[in-house]
Amino acid sequence: MKLLSVIVPCYNEQENIQDFYDELMKNEAFFKERDVDIELVYVNDGSTDKTVDMVKELNNKDKRVKLVSFSRNFGKEAAIYAGLEKVAGDYVVIMDCDLQDPPALLPEMYKAVEEEGYDSVATRRVNRKGEPPIRSFFARMFYKLINKMSKTEIVDGARDYRLMTRQFVDAVLSVKEYNRFSKGIFGWVGFKNKWIEFENVERRKGETKWSFWKLFKYALDGIVAFSTIPLAVASFVGVMLCFVALFFIIFIIVRQCFFGGDPHDVFGWASMVCIILFASGVQLLCVGILGQYLSKTYLEVKKRPLYIVKEEI
Ligand code: UDP
Ligand code: MG
Repeated sequence: MKLLSVIVPCYNEQENIQDFYDELMKNEAFFKERDVDIELVYVNDGSTDKTVDMVKELNNKDKRVKLVSFSRNFGKEAAIYAGLEKVAGDYVVIMDCDLQDPPALLPEMYKAVEEEGYDSVATRRVNRKGEPPIRSFFARMFYKLINKMSKTEIVDGARDYRLMTRQFVDAVLSVKEYNRFSKGIFGWVGFKNKWIEFENVERRKGETKWSFWKLFKYALDGIVAFSTIPLAVASFVGVMLCFVALFFIIFIIVRQCFFGGDPHDVFGWASMVCIILFASGVQLLCVGILGQYLSKTYLEVKKRPLYIVKEEI
């Protein structure tokens, strides 16, 4: 008998707990035929609604349903990590609670791992139907940018929905960093990976838990975690500006010595102000970039736990 562990991060998903269970269990027969048990672990990421009660209710009826509950909201990345740490499955799959990751794909994913010899099966949505256009636009820009800057491939439209073997899970868990960006880590650990594509599905019930600002910060985390190119760019711009400055210094000295200076000296202030503003802007930007890396290093060095569990069933 093998075990398939399903990890579901939940943050205020009371309307979706039951629906998710129902949809997932539609695959029960498929897995039973193949001698695979299912365990369903809801990771409650500090919900303030009835999520926990809903999971407990399910657990009363079906002991395969389990709960890991955080003491507060630690973010989806922490919930994923906690889930991976807690489950014992030979196969592990991560899924969203809102049914945007169709459970109907599970048999196909399982077959790819079991019969075709893949170590992990990932999913990506081929479109972003139903998403606000501005969000799609920035998402696309982000993927273009990060793939230019990082050696680890981060696929546009990739979901966290992924079925993994035990070996793959252990590899992901061995990446101990605090500032986690799973989409990058999954690629970074390597192994043989298959992609399955599907049409975007809209959230079943409730609202998205990611505000634009939260996504923006997540995008920055991703870039800082998987690329040091911004630091190189900052240095490069600094060096270029030094050359420009040097050129002007020489120009001014030569003009002063051979042509007796600028007769309109007093008119130079406007360009001077522009140059000072530009140079100080670039300096602040570079200090900011440096600060991003420093702050991440700071958090990393503190070695705080990624999450704190309040209750476990
Ligand atoms: N989620 C979480 N913690 C958070 C935000 C989200 O565990 O701080 C969960 C959420 O409950 C859902 C999944 O992560 O199961 C994806 O979130 P959502 O559907 O809101 O994101 P979207 O699909 O809009 O990108
Ligand atoms: Mg969603």
